[in-house]
Parts: sequence; structure tokens; C-alpha cells
Amino acid sequence: MGFQMPRGTQDIKGEEIKKWHRLEEMIRQFTYIYDYQEIRTPIFEHTNVFKRGNDSSDMVNKEMYTFQLENSSTSLTLRPEGTAGVVRSFVEHKMYGNADLPAKLYYMGPMCRHERPQKGRQRIFHQFGVEVIGAKSPLLDVDTIALGWSFLQAVGLKDLKVLINTLGDEESRLAYQTVLKEHFKDEIAHMCPDCKRRYEQNPLRILDCKIDAEKESILTAPKMSQYLNEESKQYFQSVLEGLDALGIPYEVDDKLVRGLDYYTHTVFEIVSESKGMGTQATVLAGGRYDGMVSYFGGPSMSGIGWALGMERLILACENEGIVLAEEEGLDAYVLCLSPKVSIQALQITNELRLHGYKTDTDFQNRSFKAQFKTVERKKAKVAIFIGEKDIEQGIITLKVIATQEQHSVPIENIIETMDTLFDEDAHEEHTCSCTSTQCNCK
Ligand code: ATP
Ligand code: MG
Repeated sequence: MGFQMPRGTQDIKGEEIKKWHRLEEMIRQFTYIYDYQEIRTPIFEHTNVFKRGNDSSDMVNKEMYTFQLENSSTSLTLRPEGTAGVVRSFVEHKMYGNADLPAKLYYMGPMCRHERPQKGRQRIFHQFGVEVIGAKSPLLDVDTIALGWSFLQAVGLKDLKVLINTLGDEESRLAYQTVLKEHFKDEIAHMCPDCKRRYEQNPLRILDCKIDAEKESILTAPKMSQYLNEESKQYFQSVLEGLDALGIPYEVDDKLVRGLDYYTHTVFEIVSESKGMGTQATVLAGGRYDGMVSYFGGPSMSGIGWALGMERLILACENEGIVLAEEEGLDAYVLCLSPKVSIQALQITNELRLHGYKTDTDFQNRSFKAQFKTVERKKAKVAIFIGEKDIEQGIITLKVIATQEQHSVPIENIIETMDTLFDEDAHEEHTCSCTSTQCNCK
């Protein structure tokens, strides 16, 4: 038997990884412009970081990879989400004492959930998420949603919908829970086992059930909006006005309750309506949370955050025909035409790289024909020939593939020649890390 990846996991490589690089680059740009700081928290935490009290979510109850090592009484869990670890860290490092609150943090990385793998649903998947902790204002909710919205716009997605709802404050929520319990009282015996659990732990979550979704009792359930107190109504109204002001289109969805128990006030999702997402259409999801900072031993502070599924984002891009990564060829390929000049070929290759030219060469003494095939396959813009005679005479030949024109120049002029061939604009595109004062990048 060979070795295979565990079910629900994937190797991301080849052309696929270029899409990830492109998206990660955009994430860095966006979080920079919106003034967020990256935070990297451990990939496993003590189990009680995720399993807090009587949480009713599927994620906490059914999907966690929890383990305990032999001879250890410590229970650890592979992180299924980002928020808990970030808030734990916020409290542990007393970030609540910082002068400039809210803390605006973002993360990127793998999450692990034991779910049934399907399109857009893996057991290891990746999230880009943000948490804004230590301040509460409806416009901060808007600002946080705006980052997610503009990022997805910049990626190029068109078939997007923002769904938004409010769960109100604690008072409103408790009032609503009582009403919901009453509503489902007679029906709960006929509902799925998860709903039975939710009925006890958090009846709101019944509205989120994928199995019972079409049941009469769910369809006729009383609406949260009727049980909001004045303050909660006003808060939500201000969020909607802020979204209007920024021109972010949304749809109020009063069935949106979201998967985690700690949410209060605003909850939202950004859904891709492109064909082919199946039931995994939610690309980004989040909400405001109270109580989490104090759970971890910090002061009573509010936070808001969201997480975006990278695999689902890539799927949505594919569905909409968005090309995330153009194939990029080499700037130059150095053909080493004799084993006797392999050192010189390597020197020239190295020199070109130090000047920011994406370059490669041959290390296997392959035939001219084989090396030239590589020039074509790697889409090199310039082929550089290094032969014994050339080196003796101190001359090398460059061939511009697009025009077939050839230049034979003194070895010491190679960079100058390349700079002329690649006009300044083209050269600026290089991510040049050279330290040479001669280079165009300076
Ligand atoms: P779902 O209802 O689809 O299970 P969720 O409510 O569990 O989603 P969140 O915990 O809010 O999802 O995670 C935020 C985002 O992370 C989701 O909107 C989705 O894009 C992505 N995501 C969640 N679980 C998975 C998974 N198993 N595989 C791939 N992406 C996922
Ligand atoms: Mg889920």
C-alpha cells in the first residue's frame, strides 16, 4: 500500500499555489491599507480555548480534532477557527491595555474540522480572518465588513451578496430564546438529534439547521426582529445606514443566526451566487461578540470579526472565470553549451538574479536541443548562450525570443544589455532584491 493524503486534506502545489500567492499578496496589501496587524497563534490550543461552557455549535460539539498525549492530562485541540486563539492571545498579552484600541488583527492559516468532505468543505482548510477587539460602535461593524467587501471586489468577484442580521443584545436574545423554546416545544421531538441538543443549549441555532430547514415549524418561527429592545434596534439601524453610506449592498436575512454561540448584535455573511458552489456558498462569515474577552480573563470588552474560506474563495473565482495567476515565464535562460564553462554559466545566472532577473540555467550538461526546449517550456524572454569559444573571447550572445534578434556583447555588458532589452517599465515589475547600486531598481 502506498501513502495517501488523509481524507479531506490536499496538497496545494503547481499552478494552484500561484493563486494562493496572488490572494495572499492581496491580503497583505489590503490589511496594510486598512491598518491591521498580522497575528500568528498556535495551531493547537488547550481544548477549553475552543470548548467554552455549554457551546451548542456543531464545530465545537462534533468537528474538533481533540487529543491527549500519553502520560499527559492536558487536552489539546487543533484549531477549528481563528477567533478564540486571537482573543486568548489578546488577553494573555494584555493587549486590552494598549493606548490605541481597538486592536485590529488579522490572521491567515489552516483550520481543522472533522466534517464530511465535499466540494468547498475540507478537513483542513484555510482562513483569512480579522478581529477588531476593544471597541464597540456600529460604524466599526461597517468598517470591518467594508474590508471584506472591498477585498472580494478587488479579487474580481461579481456574484456576491451580503446577508446581515442582528441577534440583539443579551436582553433581546434571552427574550427571543424564551419565545423560540415555546414555539418549538411540541415539535422538537420530531426534529433531528442536533436540533434536540440545540433546543437545550441555544434554541436560536435551530434556525440554522440544514436538515430541518424546510420544516413547517422553522418556516413559521417567530422573528428575532420582533423581540429586539430599542437599543438593539437602533444599533442595527446605524449599521445599515453605515453600509448604505459606503455603497455596500446588503440583504437583511432574519434567519441568519451563524454557527457560533458567542455572537451579539451584528452577524453577517458574504455569499457567492455563482453556479457550482452548492450548499457551500458562504465565502465569508462573522459577527460581533461580547463576553469572549472576559471569558479569557480580560475586562468586559466587545469584538467583531470575520473569517473567509480561502478554498471557497478560489472556487468562486473559478466559477466566475477569474484568472488569479497569469503564467509568468523566465526573463532569461542561460544555456551552458559545454561542461567546461559551467562555472561561468552559473556566475552569469547568479549575476542576473542579483539584478532582479528571473533566471535559470542547466546543471546536467544536456544537449543544446534539450536546453532550448526548456527555454520554450519556461517561456524565457531571452536565451543566453555560453560556449567555450565565447568565454575565451569574452563575448556572450543573447537571443530575444519574441523577435529572434541576437546580440553579441562583452561579458561585462550583460546587465546593461538586459536593462536595455527590458525597458525600464518592464524592469520595474521585478521584485528586485539586489544590493547593487547599478541596478535599475534603485
Ligand atoms: P458552514 O455553514 O459552511 O459549515 P461555518 O458556519 O461552519 O460554515 P465559519 O465557522 O463561519 O463557517 O467559517 C468561516 C468560513 O470558513 C466559511 O464561510 C467558509 O468559507 C470557510 N469554511 C468553514 N468550514 C470550512 C470547511 N470545512 N472547508 C472549507 N471552508 C470552510
Ligand atoms: Mg461548519
